[in-house]
Amino acid sequence: MPAPQFPTPPAAAEPLTVMGAGLVGSLLSLYLARRGHSVQVIERRADPRRTGVQEGRSINLALSDRGWRALEGVGIADDIRRVGIPMYRRVIHDAQGQLSFQPYGQNGQAIYSVSRGGLNQALLDLAEADERISLRFQQQCRHLDLEQRRLHLLDTATQQPHDEPYTRLFGTDGAFSAVRAALQKTDRYDYSQHYLEYGYKELNIEGGPNGEWLLEKEALHIWPRGEFMMIALPNLDGSFNCTLYFPFEGSNSFAALETPQQVTDFFQRVFPDVLPLLPDLTGEFFRNPTSSLVTVRCFPWAYRDEVLLLGDASHAIVPFYGQGMNAGFEDCTVLNQLLDEHGDAAWPLVFNEFQTRRKPNADAMADLAVYNFTEMRDRVADPRFLLQKKIEGKIAQQFPGHWTPLYSQVTFSHTPYAEAWANGQRQDQLMAEFMAHIQTEADYERPEVQALLREKLAGGAPATA
Ligand code: FAD
Repeated sequence: MPAPQFPTPPAAAEPLTVMGAGLVGSLLSLYLARRGHSVQVIERRADPRRTGVQEGRSINLALSDRGWRALEGVGIADDIRRVGIPMYRRVIHDAQGQLSFQPYGQNGQAIYSVSRGGLNQALLDLAEADERISLRFQQQCRHLDLEQRRLHLLDTATQQPHDEPYTRLFGTDGAFSAVRAALQKTDRYDYSQHYLEYGYKELNIEGGPNGEWLLEKEALHIWPRGEFMMIALPNLDGSFNCTLYFPFEGSNSFAALETPQQVTDFFQRVFPDVLPLLPDLTGEFFRNPTSSLVTVRCFPWAYRDEVLLLGDASHAIVPFYGQGMNAGFEDCTVLNQLLDEHGDAAWPLVFNEFQTRRKPNADAMADLAVYNFTEMRDRVADPRFLLQKKIEGKIAQQFPGHWTPLYSQVTFSHTPYAEAWANGQRQDQLMAEFMAHIQTEADYERPEVQALLREKLAGGAPATA
């Protein structure tokens, strides 16, 4: 792959501040530095490369095309691909331990299981190697003064508060952003947060005695149970990171499982095939935190041409489409493209276009993420839904350019999320018409079905952009 091209440092190169050295902040700092700016990155945590400590969240993440493109932009995609595990299909485990399979894409398309900590550390290593970037850990932003352009920081090692000025600030400090909190106090600021009634808990399937994978390795495993579900993503050491998405309250819920025996009985009843693979189930269940799932929407993302929010700080979404990080990485790609188009001195224009272009896509992605929760916990267990997916695969093959499955548009393309979502809704309506004539896979070939497909797809306007 050719080395990424960055413009000659602009005359207007200036000191920039990035708040938050998570996935998006560390990648953003690289993009900005390679444009010639000097960048300081301020992070509340200690350096994870020294402490080995990772912040809760998830241990591994699904990385897909939007994320890959952003990593390619700073020349790190190949390194990450070497330590990622491709997941070519969903493996669906029913309550009797029977398996069914659903490919994610076509012709070898895969999403990749990557370690959150490993990816963050690789980005921090690159940032540290760039002399234009300074990384400052254990500096927590407590609040900021937008008028005076001053940060109020706490040195968490010494507990000393201190103030400092900033010139231009990028808020990549996550779903509970302190930078966003300052914007929220400005006039007519739109903000909402919505919690699901579901929480999540991480559990661990150990590798086999020789580090082998005890479930199919190159797959994302799902145990859909209607009201709740568990998923597992593979790690390099043979283990799988499982996440149980479960209601907080109710008959089947975190609140209802109070004792080790209740947990074991519950897993025996609903996840019998995975129980033997979870040797420390009850220990982990009561030790590991139960975390909540939030969607955050807000606007504007920019304050004058002085502050800009990116990543979860501007659009935290629930994790069911595996797109939160990918969307945050795409923010970096789009910001870089706008700087290419307008130049590094045109901050007001760039900030404004960035938020205008990205906001509808972030909103669409937030809706898609909730939509996919229903699909994963419920619909993938329905034989009719699986038939529909097979039929969709056939349609996509027979009418290329007229039909791209929604999942592929979101995951394996750079189609703006809002466009993908609109296309997907249109296709859903058409699919309902087709499925009314289809009871088995063989029905796809029936002349009346083929005629309907041709009428709706080949003759009419493309169903996808
Ligand atoms: P964060 O990763 O939250 O980083 C923010 C950084 O800012 C942190 O380092 C934090 O310490 C720092 N910070 C916070 N406050 C302050 C402060 N006041 N001062 C200084 N520093 C501060 N996305 C995917 O694409 N694929 C997936 O498969 C996927 N799975 C997920 C599974 C779960 C269970 C969850 C919860 C999320 C998942 N996501 C996934 C979403 C993904 O984790 C986020 O979208 C991504 O981490 C956002 O990156 P960020 O850098 O914007 O925020």
